Amino acid sequence: MGGGAKTVYLETMGCQMNVLDSELVLGQLRALGYEPTPKMTTADVVLINTCSVRDHAEQKVLSRLGALKKPKQKKPEMVIGVIGCMAERDPDGIFDKMPHVDLVCGPGELNKVPALIDEVRGRRTRAIALAQSLSRKSTPLQRALEFDSVEALDLARTPGPDQNVLQSYIRVQRGCDKFCTFCVVPFTRGPERSRPAAQIVAEAHMLADRGAREITLLGQTVNSYVQQENGRTVRFAELLERVGAVSGIERLRFVTSYPGDFTDDILYAMRDIPQVCEYLHIPAQSGSDPVLKRMRRQYSVSQYVELIDHARQIVPGIAIASDFIVGFCGETEEDHQRTMELIERCRFKNIFVFKYSPRPGTVADKRDADDVPEQVKRRRNLELLKLQERISQPANQALVGSTVEVLIEGFSKAALKAQEAEQSRGEEVGWRRSDQLVGRTRSDQIVVFSGEQKHIGALADVRIVDATALTLHGELIRMRDFAPASRAPRDRSLPILGAA
Ligand code: SF4
Repeated sequence: MGGGAKTVYLETMGCQMNVLDSELVLGQLRALGYEPTPKMTTADVVLINTCSVRDHAEQKVLSRLGALKKPKQKKPEMVIGVIGCMAERDPDGIFDKMPHVDLVCGPGELNKVPALIDEVRGRRTRAIALAQSLSRKSTPLQRALEFDSVEALDLARTPGPDQNVLQSYIRVQRGCDKFCTFCVVPFTRGPERSRPAAQIVAEAHMLADRGAREITLLGQTVNSYVQQENGRTVRFAELLERVGAVSGIERLRFVTSYPGDFTDDILYAMRDIPQVCEYLHIPAQSGSDPVLKRMRRQYSVSQYVELIDHARQIVPGIAIASDFIVGFCGETEEDHQRTMELIERCRFKNIFVFKYSPRPGTVADKRDADDVPEQVKRRRNLELLKLQERISQPANQALVGSTVEVLIEGFSKAALKAQEAEQSRGEEVGWRRSDQLVGRTRSDQIVVFSGEQKHIGALADVRIVDATALTLHGELIRMRDFAPASRAPRDRSLPILGAA
């Protein structure tokens, strides 16, 4: 590449799948000589990896793109790209509203990003790659056998030497066939396709060799993973066993599970495979059967409750998290009360609550009126969160005095802020013992405690001394091991980690 290394700024919005996609895109560009930069307005290439799940997320993308108008005027050779779900959903809308955008690329075509950038540079034209041609005709099993060109992106994964892989994602599945009536994912990410198990295991080995200790397997409905291998069917429980057996992987997680497809063999795998963490993220979306039916969720409230009870019977100490949508079309006060009752009943570790916003092209948008007023959505949102706080606070308090195993992820937000302030004052940052570290328990609890930089990446025992509804505070009791010196601490200033 002539004229020195080109710089790339990559900002990620949305889910873990996007975080992984960004890592892989950045990996491709690094291999071609691009250098990541945290400065958006002066970068040679700016990529925004977008989310379409809610209108709010798309508005945020438009505002980021709006902020690039002036920098692009100053530096017309800057290449601005919109990648991910919003690019797939509304390419024309992006170009209409933001004419300074040069390229759009859907999530199924991300292996083409370097070629698209070259196309823009070489021909000074817009470049587009969308996967709208993906076939839904075949069954998930048949599709699993088809060659998937986007697989190339995962296969080419080569983390750079300075890249923190301590906690890594691996994609096991793409797309979704469920077509919940509120959701754009089946349109933006295409049909459900599982990756070959051998490739997933090879990727786990590669990451473990580079220092990964925790792997999270990603899929839109991860528990419905299915693949044919040498004439036999591999399902998700077997995949857990095979990835858990990779030397060096000490923790194995998976998201997101779909309640309708959750089978007992996965619960037994969670109980019996030491590496699989006792944590399950399994969105309920509503506690009312009529709402679930309009959402086309393929389970009832009682089936969901039964699954949660069953999971608790089989997997000792399991922590369960859920998602809820408030204000879905036609949601009454009574429906909302049923959701409150479900939360009360299930005693989740935490919940994620979203206010419904219609997404163009979905069944709900075409069929149902978005008839719950915004202030009612806001109130219901708050009510669910307050109820969850009332559940989480005493549950976390009950942990005070106990000792938990944490994987130390890095400095706490407060410590990072203090370090930034010191740096901006021109002071040398001293890595003092008082620097706050943050770690995560196997059940996905965040623990803040004092430690040293060299502890980052290690497993430790921490005694819990205080707790809020969201965070545990502890004191370091003993290190279980030390992180190898080569394991770099997480650099939170890298744009790839700036997921919104
Ligand atoms: S299961 Fe439903 S909510 Fe989840 S990605 Fe698929 S369509 Fe969307």
